[in-house]
Amino acid sequence: MPAVTANIVPLRHARPGVVAYVKSPDEWFVANSGWIQGSEGVALIDTCGTEQATLELVRDVRKYAPESAKQLTVVVTHAHGEHHNGVGVALRDGGTVLAAPASVEVVKAGPQTYGNVFTCTQWGVLEPPEPAAVRPVVGWRRIDLGDAVADVVAVPGTAHTAGDLVVHEPRSGTLFTGDLVFIGSTPMAVHGSIPGWLDALDWMQDTFRPRTLVPGHGPVANPGHTAVHTMRVYLEWLLEATARSRDFSKLATQASLRWPTWSNPERHIGNLMRAYADQHGRKLDVDLAIDAVIAAAGGRIDLDYLLGAEPARQIS
Ligand SMILES: [Zn+2]
Repeated sequence: MPAVTANIVPLRHARPGVVAYVKSPDEWFVANSGWIQGSEGVALIDTCGTEQATLELVRDVRKYAPESAKQLTVVVTHAHGEHHNGVGVALRDGGTVLAAPASVEVVKAGPQTYGNVFTCTQWGVLEPPEPAAVRPVVGWRRIDLGDAVADVVAVPGTAHTAGDLVVHEPRSGTLFTGDLVFIGSTPMAVHGSIPGWLDALDWMQDTFRPRTLVPGHGPVANPGHTAVHTMRVYLEWLLEATARSRDFSKLATQASLRWPTWSNPERHIGNLMRAYADQHGRKLDVDLAIDAVIAAAGGRIDLDYLLGAEPARQIS
């Protein structure tokens, strides 16, 4: 496993400064962040899974936005650990956290390290945020950052999870999608809804008409990118495949052959179980689906590659 690298991708140099913080390789617990910088504040979109990675992220925010970084608002796109574990770390000097209503309690409770799924010795010290600092966003909220704004918008319904948010910067047309978009790796749908996710992709396009997408996982792209279309085709395929069969192992093998370049193919089986439950009116046993993913991965997944992080580098 190569070392984890953070690429700082400036999407707009003038204020509002808009930066995508793109992590690679696209592996378990490696996810993107980003920030929008105004004259009086910074909206940081998502933290990292470990203390060290979050400290490096915050250091880079302060380096690129030295004055405005004093007023930090962390927007948690959803309550998966690689996105929110570092919230308490990022807010050691104060600030607020915004999350969708269904994610607020999980964010307040602090880091999720999923001991049944992963082995890892690199979490560091991950404290929960101050409960009073965590605020729900219902509908649409505009954050005034001085001469810039960040629109934080709750995704209607259940999509990737039951509590997803996106962040839009209107001047550059940049949409931070959280995990509504995966580019180059197998999406993870166990905690969401496949029909809801498809609806959310339509909603995202119709509502924002974004020019640039910063996905939760994978490189920056425009909405017309083949990979975005491919993800939609995959979600539709999950529904089609499980309408006629519940042989999840066989279907997962078919998926691996059809999308051979995607990392983390062990997620297919969990996604198929989710799709089957969604369209047959069943309640998914999420623990069972996660067990199937772990079995497909050959056992608990070792995250100690997170230790080998390299310093961030800027690419234009
Ligand atoms: Zn996620």
